[in-house]
Amino acid sequence: MSNNKVLVLGANFAGLTAALSLKHELGKDVDVTVVSKSDRFQFNPSFIWIPFGKRKAKDVVFPVAKTFESHGVEFVHAEATKIDPKTHKVETSRGVHPYDYLVIATGYLNDFDVIPGLGPDGNAYSITHLDGAVDAADNPQRPEGEVPRGWNWEAIPA
Ligand SMILES: Cc1cc2nc3c(=O)[nH]c(=O)nc-3n(C[C@H](O)[C@H](O)[C@H](O)COP(=O)(O)OP(=O)(O)OC[C@H]3O[C@@H](n4cnc5c(N)ncnc54)[C@H](O)[C@@H]3O)c2cc1C
Repeated sequence: MSNNKVLVLGANFAGLTAALSLKHELGKDVDVTVVSKSDRFQFNPSFIWIPFGKRKAKDVVFPVAKTFESHGVEFVHAEATKIDPKTHKVETSRGVHPYDYLVIATGYLNDFDVIPGLGPDGNAYSITHLDGAVDAADNPQRPEGEVPRGWNWEAIPA
């Protein structure tokens, strides 16, 4: 009988932990594959240091492929684009991947539209993603225009 296939989407805190833990616990009884848009683990708590020049992007990331491979986990650098729960398949930018069990660990998405002027297309930087932290470091002048509400002291209730 063939092994159960576990497919993990995302390779950061949740995805990496899930994939390595499952392989560690179930070993040869399971095939674990990780599909991730980023091929680097990103230590986001340290993004805060980047705009202030205390860390560079290279200091807060490491490539994940070797880590997975050394633990018997297959790694695919690709973006998941569609999940079909009926056929147990995930479409990605690099092919279709079948699964018996699916772990979705793709993190959160920012919704900058909820506050006018918020986000990289508005008047503020966001350090919730590496690109935003690097952008803030490379362009240290305050963005022109009205500072979005919620980002200044006036927004704090008395
Ligand atoms: C500045 C900052 C400081 C923080 N400080 C702390 C702290 O001190 N303590 C704490 O507990 N938490 C902290 N957090 C929160 C913590 O970083 C998050 O809770 C954590 O990153 C969530 O991990 P995750 O694996 O669920 O998602 P993420 O870290 O967002 O990872 C998502 C993964 O999914 C991949 N992915 C996304 N979309 C797709 C797709 N369509 N297909 C394939 N792969 C995809 C990404 O490439 C990535 O690998 C902080 C966050 C920030 C931004």
